[in-house]
Amino acid sequence: MPIRALTETIIDQIAAGEVVERPASVVKELVENAIDAGARRIEIVTAGGGKSLIRISDDGHGIPAAELPLAVRRHCTSKLTDDLAAIATLGFRGEALPSIGSVARLTLRSRHRGSEDAHEIEVHGGRTSAVRPAAHGAGTVVEVRDLFHAVPARLKFLKSERAETAAITDVVRRIAIAAPRVRFELAGADRVPLTLEAGDGLARISAVVGADFASDSIPIDASRDGVALTGFAGLPTTGRGNAQFQYVYVNGRPVRDKMMLSALRGAYADAMARDRHPVAVLFLEIDPALVDVNVHPAKADVRFRDPGLVRGLIVGAIREALAARGLSRSAQGAAEMMDRFQTGGDASAPAWQPSFATGGFRPAFAERSQAPYRAEASPFRPLEPDARGAASSGDVGSDFAPAARMADPNPDTAPGDHPLGAARAQVHDNYVIAETPDGIVIVDQHAAHERLVYETLKTAIHGRPLPAQFLLLPEIVDLPSDDADRLATAAEALERFGLSLERFGPGAVAVRSTPAILGAVDVPALVRDLADELAEDETVEGLKGRIDAVAATIACHGSVRSGRRLRAEEMNALLRQMEATPGSGTCNHGRPTFVALKLVDIERLFGRR
Ligand code: ADP
Ligand code: MG
Repeated sequence: MPIRALTETIIDQIAAGEVVERPASVVKELVENAIDAGARRIEIVTAGGGKSLIRISDDGHGIPAAELPLAVRRHCTSKLTDDLAAIATLGFRGEALPSIGSVARLTLRSRHRGSEDAHEIEVHGGRTSAVRPAAHGAGTVVEVRDLFHAVPARLKFLKSERAETAAITDVVRRIAIAAPRVRFELAGADRVPLTLEAGDGLARISAVVGADFASDSIPIDASRDGVALTGFAGLPTTGRGNAQFQYVYVNGRPVRDKMMLSALRGAYADAMARDRHPVAVLFLEIDPALVDVNVHPAKADVRFRDPGLVRGLIVGAIREALAARGLSRSAQGAAEMMDRFQTGGDASAPAWQPSFATGGFRPAFAERSQAPYRAEASPFRPLEPDARGAASSGDVGSDFAPAARMADPNPDTAPGDHPLGAARAQVHDNYVIAETPDGIVIVDQHAAHERLVYETLKTAIHGRPLPAQFLLLPEIVDLPSDDADRLATAAEALERFGLSLERFGPGAVAVRSTPAILGAVDVPALVRDLADELAEDETVEGLKGRIDAVAATIACHGSVRSGRRLRAEEMNALLRQMEATPGSGTCNHGRPTFVALKLVDIERLFGRR
C-alpha cells in the first residue's frame, strides 16, 4: 500500500484512544471545560454508567455561534496562545471535543455571554453538522450519547455499569476539591445523586473526603525553593485499604503522579503498615515553567524539572507534621482504652455513670459492669503483697515472679522530671508502667523497642555505618533472579546497616553479616522481605527514597525483646530513649508505643469525680 495521509476522522479516533479511555474521562474533560469557562454551577447527568448518556450543563461564558465549528475541530482552542510553559487553564490541547465527537454522538449547545440567543452543533461519528439556532439559557450544555458505539473494541473493555458510574463520581469529587467555589450536582438514574454546595476549601474537602477528615488529619503548610505544599494529611490510624482517598493537585489540576504518590507513601512509611494507605489532600503550587503537564493527553501525569525537590518537600512536610503530633496522638488512644476497663463491682455503677457521659467517654463497660469483678482478668489488677515487698527491698533483679515487677523508686527520677515519667513497674513481661505528674503512662516495650531500633537504623543512613555481626559461614539464600539483582544493587546501602550480602550465582545471594543490633535473626526471612520491599520501586533513585522502608523492614525482624524482664534502670533508660527519639510515639506499624492516662480519668473511673 502506498503512503497516504490518514483521514481527519481516523486521526481523531486515534487521539480519542488516549483522551477518552472510558466514560469518566469524558466527564473529566467536559467538567474541566466548564471550569475553564468560569462556571459557578455545573450539573452532570449520566445514564448507563455514562455509556448511553453524559450531559454536562454550566453557567460559564459560553461559546459564540461563529466559533462552534472550531470548538469541535482538532487542535483548536481558546486557551493556549504560544507559550506551553504558561498554562493557567485545565485544558489547552484542543483535543477533547473532537475526540469525543469521533467516538460518540456529541451535541454542543451554547449561548455566549452578551448574546441574545443560543446555537448548537452536532458531531456524530466524526461528521460535523451545520450550526443551527437552539433554545437554551445562559452557558453551555454538552451532551454525549452512545459513547464508543462506533468503536466496539473499546466498548468491550469497559467495566460494569456500576464500576463506570463509580469512576465518574470519583472524577467529579477529585475535580470538585480543587474548585470549592463551584456548585456541583451529579445525578442520573444509574446513581445516588451527589450535590456539593459552593463554599470554602475546607468545607468542600469535608464534603468529599468525609466529615471526620478535618479532625482526623493534620494541616500541612510548607514551602521550599519557591514550591509550596498545603493540604491535610490523615492521621496514621485512619489509613485505608487502598489509595483511593489520596487527592493530589498540581497548580489546581488533579493528577495521578507516581512520584508524588510514592512520596506520600514514603512519608508514612514509619507510621503505617505497608498494606495500609494514607488519606490525604495535597495541593502543590509551583512555577508552571518548572512542571510539564503535557506528558499525556489525559493530563493526569506531570513531569517536574526537579522531582527530588518536590519529593523532599512532600516527605519532609508530612513527616514533620506527623512527628509533631507523635506524643499527643498516643494519649488519644486512652479514651478507647478506658472503654475496655473492668471496674470493681456493680454497686457503684449508677453513681458515676452520668459523670462519664458528661466527661465525653462512651461507657461501654458500664453495660458489662454487672459482671463480677475478677482481679486476675483486670488489666490493673491489684499488686500482690509480695511484689510490693520486693520493691521496697529493692530486689528487682531476682527470678521471683510476682504479678508485677516493681521498679526501684529511684530518688533521681521524680515523675515530673520527664515527659514519660518515672518507671514504677513492669507487668506481663512487656508493659512498663510509669508515673507522670498528672497520670500514668503504659509503654508497650516490644513496640517501643522496634521503634528505637528503626530510628537507630535510620541514623546510620546518614552517619556512621552500624556494627555488623559476622556469620560463621555465609548464608546462601535462594531467590528469583530479579530479586537477587535488586538486592545486589542495594548492597552498598544495606552495608550501612551492617547487612553484607553479594550476588551468588543467578538465583541467590550470599549473606556474610547481619546488623548486630538485631541479635540472632532468621536470615532468609529478612532477605526475602527486603527483596519485596525493594521490588516496590525499580529505580536507584527509588531505592534512596525507600531506604526508610528498608530500615523499617529490618527493624521488624529485630524486635525479639518482648517478654524480657527489665530491671528498673532498663525501664527508665527505655523511657528516656523514647523521649529522645523523634516519632517514638508510634511503632513502625502506626500502633502507639505508649498510652497515657490522666489522673482525672482514673479518678472518674473510680467515681471520685
Ligand atoms: P481545550 O479545552 O483543550 O481548549 P476542548 O476540545 O476541550 O479543548 O474545547 C475546545 C474549545 O471549546 C475550548 O478551548 C473552549 O473555547 C470551547 N469550550 C468547550 N467547552 C466549553 C464550555 N463548557 N464553555 C465554554 N467554552 C467551551
Ligand atoms: Mg478541554
